Amino acid sequence: MQKRYIPIVIFCLALVLMLFAHLYGRDLAAPVFGFASEEETEGSPKAQPREIYLTFDDGPSTVVTGRILDILLKEGVPATFFITGERVFGREEVLRRIHDEGHAIGVHTYSHRYDAIYSSDRAFLEDVRKCAEIIEKVTGEKPKLYRFPGGGRHDRFEALLREMGYETVLWNAVCGDEEIPHADAATLERRAIETAKGKKKVVLLLHDSAPHKATAEALPKIIEHFRDEGYVFKSL
Ligand SMILES: [Zn+2]
Repeated sequence: MQKRYIPIVIFCLALVLMLFAHLYGRDLAAPVFGFASEEETEGSPKAQPREIYLTFDDGPSTVVTGRILDILLKEGVPATFFITGERVFGREEVLRRIHDEGHAIGVHTYSHRYDAIYSSDRAFLEDVRKCAEIIEKVTGEKPKLYRFPGGGRHDRFEALLREMGYETVLWNAVCGDEEIPHADAATLERRAIETAKGKKKVVLLLHDSAPHKATAEALPKIIEHFRDEGYVFKSL
């Protein structure tokens, strides 16, 4: 080989090596999931894993939250709880258990009284602050997640929350435990499946306050369904 070609050959070899390093590196960086998707066939690009986030609003409750935690523990499923601050008094142990069992905890509201919360910036921030304060007092951790009571979009308040370092969490599927009066477990399970249909990332809204016993009852079947569908359970 003529000497003048040597730099070109070295350059090409380096390019090939860089290409390999890039592909190999990407493979290593790909998240590892504990299930094999049926959609994956040999030679096809790896199917994106499907994810579900179970989110519980309005707790803690001495009646329902414990039942939900028992199920999550048994199934090895993480979840996210958006807390109503006012309800923590006398239920500190329940909130501590949510935290100790590794679930994520966010601010929902202190009072859950819409007219007061949304009446002014000051009232809104005070509601958030009071809820965050009691969560931190009981768990030792500052919450960083927030979900609006009553849902919906509130751009101005969202901007204020961002400034305070909060991430606002919406949902894209419901089990219907608020909208459907006296729904039984089977109805809630059906509604969760129906509203999550076709979504690769599901953020499911559930409730864990005292009237929602049917939600706890529906939970094992909901978990079973999404697990069978190949979803990975995550907390926020
Ligand atoms: Zn709520």
